[in-house]
Amino acid sequence: MSILSWIEQKSFEEEEGGLWTRCYQCGAVLYIKHLKENHHVCFACDSHLQMTSRERLQSLIDPGTWQPFDETLSSIDPLNFYDQKSYVSRLKDAQFQTGLQDSVITGTGLLEGIPVALGIMDFNFMGGSMGSVVGEKLTRLIEYATCEGLMLILVCASGGARMHEGILSLMQMAKISAALNVYQNKAHLMYIAVLTSPTTGGVTASFAMLGDLILAEPNALIGFAGRRVIEQTLQEKLPENFQTAEYLLEHGLLDLIISREFFKPALFEILSFYKDAPLKIQGKIPKNFMLKRPLNLLTEEKFRRQLDVEKKKKKIYIKQEITQIPDLNFSKNILKKINNLPQQKKFTEFNQKIFQSFNQFYNF
Ligand SMILES: [Zn+2]
Ligand SMILES: [Zn+2]
Repeated sequence: MSILSWIEQKSFEEEEGGLWTRCYQCGAVLYIKHLKENHHVCFACDSHLQMTSRERLQSLIDPGTWQPFDETLSSIDPLNFYDQKSYVSRLKDAQFQTGLQDSVITGTGLLEGIPVALGIMDFNFMGGSMGSVVGEKLTRLIEYATCEGLMLILVCASGGARMHEGILSLMQMAKISAALNVYQNKAHLMYIAVLTSPTTGGVTASFAMLGDLILAEPNALIGFAGRRVIEQTLQEKLPENFQTAEYLLEHGLLDLIISREFFKPALFEILSFYKDAPLKIQGKIPKNFMLKRPLNLLTEEKFRRQLDVEKKKKKIYIKQEITQIPDLNFSKNILKKINNLPQQKKFTEFNQKIFQSFNQFYNF
């Protein structure tokens, strides 16, 4: 082994946690301390490299004003999912490596003195994938912003829905979009989506593209399906800059591309324009859309355990237990409907019919 290749190998080995790193675009060797000072933008080619959610938070929110939400929320493994490793151990590894509970942080803070609700996704946590926790945290953030009349900024960086949670992660797309609908169309508040590299899959297909204003970083990869999938399906060669922020801006999907160092000033300018907008009805939500503040975690846990204990002891129906809890009216009404026997019977018969015709159709 020549001395040069030995040095090269050594520097590769020390990349993680070392002093130096390499730009994935142009290969320039970068001193990490200076790179951080430069918001992780390559000195040689101006590529916007990956940033953690904490670094992004520091670059956007005034020091000392951040109030995090739902920091302890973490995922369970509803499907007992297993590939080369179990989902549970993948989660644990990611939590250990990043110090985060899941791939998004949410909360409120001041941006140049203007209060905002902010959610930042972290690509380092399982590729920024969106599971139940991301969906729940973002929905709670949006509902809080709706109640408080706060402006909302979501910074997206995601590989899409988290396959380990199957359909439960896909339904988060609809859940977040529904919360955003109330926020934007009923409370008339402004939501700014910030797309960073990469923003793909289910995140693009839901809240990333729903922004009143959609901003992106230069040369960010933004798309739904991967390039190869589209090329193979269409049997066509795609243009070189396909799925980059610039290409999308040209085709009208984005509003603005902003270099990272100007993001905070640009957001400040937009927010201060909007502050006096005539259309917003701050904090006034129509009656039907009145949102309930989520119970705090301790109370939630207390109710859950109470239900568990009573279920085991008395074997009574959940319906009766839930009536005792004033805050769960919504679930109570749904259970009333389900427990309404004639209706349930109809429903079962209806399902059976559908199932039969389905079987006939496919010759099962
Ligand atoms: Zn420096
Ligand atoms: Zn570079």
